[in-house]
Amino acid sequence: MRFYLPTCVFAGSRCVRDNAQALRPLGRHALLVTGRGSASRSGALSDMEQGLASQGISFDVFEGADNNPDYACCMLAAEAARDTRADFIVGIGGGSPLDTAKTAALLARNELSEPDLYAGSFRDGALPIVAVPTTAGTGSEATPYAVLTNHAIESKSTIATDALYPRVAFLDPAYTASLPRRVAVSTALDAMSHAIEGSLALRASAWSSAIAREALAIIGRSLPALARGDNGEGLRTDMLLAANMAGVVIAQTATTIVHAMGYPLSHFKGVEHGRANGMLLAAYLEMAAEHRPDDVREVLRALGCQDVAAFRLLIDPLVGPKETMSAHEATRFTAMALGTKHLANTPGSLGKDGIRNLYARSLTVR
Ligand code: ZN
Repeated sequence: MRFYLPTCVFAGSRCVRDNAQALRPLGRHALLVTGRGSASRSGALSDMEQGLASQGISFDVFEGADNNPDYACCMLAAEAARDTRADFIVGIGGGSPLDTAKTAALLARNELSEPDLYAGSFRDGALPIVAVPTTAGTGSEATPYAVLTNHAIESKSTIATDALYPRVAFLDPAYTASLPRRVAVSTALDAMSHAIEGSLALRASAWSSAIAREALAIIGRSLPALARGDNGEGLRTDMLLAANMAGVVIAQTATTIVHAMGYPLSHFKGVEHGRANGMLLAAYLEMAAEHRPDDVREVLRALGCQDVAAFRLLIDPLVGPKETMSAHEATRFTAMALGTKHLANTPGSLGKDGIRNLYARSLTVR
C-alpha cells in the first residue's frame, strides 16, 4: 500500500486572506490560470490577487483556460508561464481551469509533444501549483491528476504524476455561492462517484476507505438538501470538504469503469462529467454487489441508504431524466471503455458484455 498526500489544505471563510503566508515559499512571481467566468465572479481571483500582493509576490493572469481543455490550450498557459518567468502557478476555477493550470505547470518545465505528455515520463517535474476550486466536485486540488481532451482518441486522457499534486489548496465556501444549480448538482455527483468508486476500487486501502466513508456520509446527508435547491453556506462548506476528501481518496485509488464509461457520454453527447458518472452508479453498485457484497453494503450504509433502491431515490432527482443512446453508440462506447486501464481497477471480471449491459441498465438504448 502507498498513501501519499503532500498538499497543504486550508478550508474556511476567508482562508486565502488569512493564510496568504503559505504562498511566500513558492516564489516571487505567480501566473494565475483561470477560465473566463467563475474565478472573478466568485471573488476568488481578487482574494488571491490581494493575498499575493500582501506577500510581495507579483503576478500575471492567464484567462484562457477552456472548458474541457486540450493540449493546445495547456501549451498556451505554459508559454505564458515561461514568458512571464513565473515561479509557480495558481489555478482558480472548476475542473477545467485546474486541469489547465496543472498541465501548464508540467509543460513549463518539460518540452513535451502531445504523445509524450500522455506517455507520462516527466524528467523535470512541474512548477509548484496552488489550487483554488470554485466548484465542489473534482477534488483536483488534492490529486496528482489532470484530465485533458485527447482529440486523437476522441475521449479524455489522464496525466498522473506526483508533480501534479498542488502544494497548497484553499477551500472557501464563498467561492461556490454563485454556482449555477446545474453545475452544483453535477459536481456533487462527481464527488460522490469518486468516493464510491474509490471505496470499491481494487487499489482501495484501509486509509482510503476510511476517508471515503466520511465523504460518503457528508454527501449522503447533503444530497437531499441540494435536490431541494438549498444553497446555504453550511451545505456549501460540507460539499467542498466532501469533494476534497473524495479527491484524496481517488488520489490513492484512482477511478474505475464508471469514469471510463462516463467519458464518451461527455465527449460525444455533451453530458456533464458528474452527471454522466451519476447515471451509471446505481447499476454499477448492483453489479459490484455480485462480487463485493460487504463493500457495497458498507458504501450504502455510509450514504444512509438501506439498499440500491433507496440509493436510486436519493440520486434520481439529481441525475434527472434518463438519457438515450443508439445501439451504435452503445457498441462504440463499450469498445472505448474496454480499452482503458480503469477496467483493471474495477471489481469483478467485467468484459464487453458486462460494460454494454451496464450502459443498457443506466440509459435507454434504442
Ligand atoms: Zn470525476
